[in-house]
Amino acid sequence: MRVVFFSTQSYDRSSFVDANRRHGHDLVFLEPRLSAETSSLAAGFRGVCAFVNDRIDSAVAEALARQGTALIALRSAGFNHVDLVATERSGLTVVRVPAYSPHAVAEHTVALILALNRRIHRAYSRVREGNFALEGLLGFDLHGRTVGVVGTGRIGTVVVGIIRGFGCHVLAMDPVRGPECEAAGATYVSFPELIGQSDVITLHCPLLRDTYHLIDSDAVGRMKRGVMLINTSRGGLVDTRAVIAGLKSGAIGYLGLDVYEEEGDLFFQDLSTRVIQDDVFARLLTFPNVIITGHQAFFTAEAVRNIAETTLENISAFERGERTGNEVTRSA
Ligand code: NAD
Repeated sequence: MRVVFFSTQSYDRSSFVDANRRHGHDLVFLEPRLSAETSSLAAGFRGVCAFVNDRIDSAVAEALARQGTALIALRSAGFNHVDLVATERSGLTVVRVPAYSPHAVAEHTVALILALNRRIHRAYSRVREGNFALEGLLGFDLHGRTVGVVGTGRIGTVVVGIIRGFGCHVLAMDPVRGPECEAAGATYVSFPELIGQSDVITLHCPLLRDTYHLIDSDAVGRMKRGVMLINTSRGGLVDTRAVIAGLKSGAIGYLGLDVYEEEGDLFFQDLSTRVIQDDVFARLLTFPNVIITGHQAFFTAEAVRNIAETTLENISAFERGERTGNEVTRSA
């Protein structure tokens, strides 16, 4: 199939070219993000491959369908950037990569927890400047602390397993209980109980209408003072302004983010010579107890390889008229 890829980087091109040796599709890689302004670049392509910050709203869906696209292959697990009502109305099939390495995201989550706790980001800069003072670097034993895991699907379950290895108590919250998490010793509680009792709160649920701004000023107000909050899931789960207020007051003691609600204009590009126009994001960067990574939690060799393989298999199966179970529908 002729497939046009939006928002590509060099690592996308190499992993897809490599995996495509087994599929033989005609792949064209573009750097721009998919939007109403760029959708005309997909004219004549039956397949469109999109990433997390490509916006597939109704204007884009209609344009793609009009131009002959039949399949949108997401090279991501999340699909909150797709208007599924619009794609369905336009007759577009949407497929995704539901699992490529839950370990990649779970391990990055734990990396943020450890780095924030032991202030590795500050120690790294100090030592390079010949400053070996420990003042301000005091951490805490994770052993015996309570970690709240919101969403115990594929990634949350791996997080529970790793965190239990540190000797932490784990509180979990998910509308669907995970037997593996319970067997590992996690205790399922309500959301208010989880946020009220946890020393560390980590988010692993999808961004849906009912999880948008799950962490708002009310939630921040119910947390233990000095709590550590980690979000490697989707930016929209956290009301950034509420969290900034929490950081300023000391209600939040540590913040680790791999995702940000307005990340579309920032992440996956080198803006180091430009002035950041997003004042909310710029404020976040000023806190000594905040670590932000630019949506890199998924980024391991294993995950990148699996993303390419599953995406191309999704495309091949669509061409053969077969279903893979990776189709995204409104009820997914
Ligand atoms: P998953 O579908 O396996 O698990 C999500 C879990 O969240 C499910 O068990 C579901 O029941 C639960 N859930 C749904 N609504 C909830 C709610 N209101 N409160 C608590 N739990 C709720 O998904 P996954 O593979 O574990 O991925 C989790 C999220 O991680 C994805 O939705 C995606 O947004 C994000 N993600 C981020 C990266 C990254 O690079 N930062 C990479 C992959 C995935």
